[in-house]
Amino acid sequence: KGPDPDLPLIASRLAGVRHKILVLSGKGGVGKSTFTSMLAWAFASDPDSEVGLMDIDICGPSLPKMMGAEGEQIHSSASGWSPIYVSDNLGMMSIQFMLPSADDAIIWRGAKKNGLIKQFLKDVDWGNLDFLIVDTPPGTSDEHLSINTYMKESGIDGAVIITTPQEVALLDVRKEINFCRKAGIPILGLVENMSGFVCPNCKGESFIFAPTTGGGEALAKEAGVPFLGKVPLDPRIGKCSDHGDNFLEMYEDSPTSKAIISIIKQIRK
Ligand code: ADP
Repeated sequence: KGPDPDLPLIASRLAGVRHKILVLSGKGGVGKSTFTSMLAWAFASDPDSEVGLMDIDICGPSLPKMMGAEGEQIHSSASGWSPIYVSDNLGMMSIQFMLPSADDAIIWRGAKKNGLIKQFLKDVDWGNLDFLIVDTPPGTSDEHLSINTYMKESGIDGAVIITTPQEVALLDVRKEINFCRKAGIPILGLVENMSGFVCPNCKGESFIFAPTTGGGEALAKEAGVPFLGKVPLDPRIGKCSDHGDNFLEMYEDSPTSKAIISIIKQIRK
């Protein structure tokens, strides 16, 4: 088999994208998509930045709802598929936009998933971007291999790995770290999400997933990857996601927003 003829086409599409960031997690439900949405919003809060968000969590695409773009339809023009713009400088692409109904399940085999990821990179008119953020499925599967194959030539800045403090989640993080190392993807750092809950009434802190927080930090240290910070639980996050609202803007003074903003500043550097 010769070289993939689509690779140069992808490279020319991505030539106008300055930074490419993947968001990974070992497990589902740790807040990967939630964090991705906040990363996109935070980058796009700078009006001089053009931001693209690509959802390749093909079997469970949840970003359109979180970004308030549910039910949108993709349009194509001579220059390719147009991303769905959730604000002037924030465009996104998700398989969800191509389904006849939001409840339709996707049961695709590897080859078809790869084909779609390729199209998202080759056929979407991303234009010139400062940041392209890619939300991936949990674990390490076909999608991760394809995105790495297709984007490698254009250079991936790195991956942010999201975990909770729970032992089983941390166990899977090791696999993500190994995957990145094998694939040659730099690791921007690890985020410990759902790290403690401060009761709004008594102000006492409870640790929901582990006896204490800090497992993420210890693991990062052991694995030699940067630790970006802990993000406490905030029940208002779920409501914001359900309504497509920007939590960081609505509750900017909350400890959770402050923690996320400090993490995003480190990623941006
Ligand atoms: P993943 O993408 O890893 O599967 P999601 O981003 O869908 O996870 O998050 C899983 C659930 O946890 C969602 O209901 C989300 O609203 C909630 N969630 C994520 N992070 C937090 C947090 N820091 N505080 C409270 N709820 C959170």
